[in-house]
Amino acid sequence: ASALVWFRRDLRSFDHAALHHALTRFERVYCVFVFDRAILDALPSRADRRLGFIHAALRELDEALDALARAAGGNGGGLIVRHGVARDEIPALAQELGVDAVLANRDYEPAARERDDAVRRVLADADIDFEDFKDQVVFDRDEVLTQDGRPFSVFTPYRNAWMRRLEPGDVAPFAIAAHAGRLAVRDARCGVPPLDAIGFSPDNLAALRLPTGMSGGASLVDDFLARIGDYHVARDFPGRKGVSYLSAHLRFGTVSVRALAEAAWRMHGDGPRTWLNELVWRDFYQMILWHHPRVVTENFRPEFDRVCWDEAPELLAAWKAGRTGYPLVDAGMRQLAQTGYMHNRLRMITASFLCKDLGIDWRPGERHFAALLNDYDLAANNGGWQWAASTGCDAQPWFRIFNPVTQSQRFDPQGDFIRRYVPELARAPSRWIHAPWKMDEAAQRAAGVRIGEDYPAPVVDHAAARERTLARFAVTKRG
Ligand code: FAD
Repeated sequence: ASALVWFRRDLRSFDHAALHHALTRFERVYCVFVFDRAILDALPSRADRRLGFIHAALRELDEALDALARAAGGNGGGLIVRHGVARDEIPALAQELGVDAVLANRDYEPAARERDDAVRRVLADADIDFEDFKDQVVFDRDEVLTQDGRPFSVFTPYRNAWMRRLEPGDVAPFAIAAHAGRLAVRDARCGVPPLDAIGFSPDNLAALRLPTGMSGGASLVDDFLARIGDYHVARDFPGRKGVSYLSAHLRFGTVSVRALAEAAWRMHGDGPRTWLNELVWRDFYQMILWHHPRVVTENFRPEFDRVCWDEAPELLAAWKAGRTGYPLVDAGMRQLAQTGYMHNRLRMITASFLCKDLGIDWRPGERHFAALLNDYDLAANNGGWQWAASTGCDAQPWFRIFNPVTQSQRFDPQGDFIRRYVPELARAPSRWIHAPWKMDEAAQRAAGVRIGEDYPAPVVDHAAARERTLARFAVTKRG
């Protein structure tokens, strides 16, 4: 019997649930990746760092599968790569190869579920099984429930139940190498086509400090585990190397979440515990998306449907361009545009600023992040945005509004991060850099910047915006 393993957001050849199940149950195992036109044709740009990241990961995966097969005494393996609509390509390839089953790791996004259901139906007509496995999270769907058997909608009790449930078997690796002799290729290995063959170029990925593929993921893991002890303190400061930078690797599965959770769980101290907590957030939002697919377009809490947001295209454009006049907000938005990454503290500050200072709906903000983030993940991005807008599943009350100046003073006290991304303010003294419009003319001259010309004056006054937001949200108290 033979099977086809369909790789999607799990671009690795170790600790892989679907690949493990295929290799242990079937004599011949083929592997495929589809550059899915249903996704790619809708992307806003043909120069996309994520395509470059995926492409590099596929190259490494293809070679690794071949090497694993040979090392286990097989004739070699590798990836079949297709460019087309996955819901058509997969059933067609499965029939061409004459396999008995297609195996894949589960994806919780509504569009992916719909695609997988369609593939499952077509395969069933051809008498081919479709099986999916939990792989990208530690616990999924209904695995962590309240005592009365319902899905959680608040994080902390979910986290506590998640931790109570966790056992070594939940984070144990899926063995691959021992069974890899069963990997097969059809005819000769055809390899991964160049990126331009599917109509994309890699943007500035090569210039970023984001190593790609399983090897890049492993090097980031080594680097981070050596400093994880300090994570709970350092993670809040965008100017410090405090976080793991693993999000794109977790998104595309070039690292194993089980291995990472296991490593953090095994270690003692506040750093590892706080970091494990972040991986639980990741599970949490995937679980929310699974149970409430409507959050993709709707407020998690319907009472917030009564909030009337402003249409303010000029303010939205200033926010996207990193020209709001609030230096830390602008630094974050420029980091996103230049690198495809934004530090978590800045995601919270910039998202809050859009909704609570500019009065703009979270949805256009979420779409802007989706277009640019290397680690864009529907569940985490939607969860983060609804959290920032106070429309989501969190206990944080809506009247807690980030002050962009005090956030800046707390989390970038010397302005180091601001200076990196807002060079207009490079010479502004630390005491003014968080609110440069307060500099008098002499100070501006000394700093070599004219506020309102070289760098914008604030597009809104925070105190006044705060009052407008309190009034805007007051409608949620009715009824
Ligand atoms: P670390 O601090 O090292 O965290 C480790 C991992 O935990 C991350 O790689 C990520 O996989 C997970 N994680 C951390 N925080 C969260 C969280 N709040 N929710 C879910 N998972 C989390 N994360 C994404 O992966 N993709 C997104 O599209 C995304 N959009 C966001 C949008 C907003 C408005 C906000 C506030 C947060 C968003 N996050 C998103 C969560 C978080 O900001 C990033 O995961 C984090 O900044 C990635 O950097 P890191 O890998 O160095 O994080």
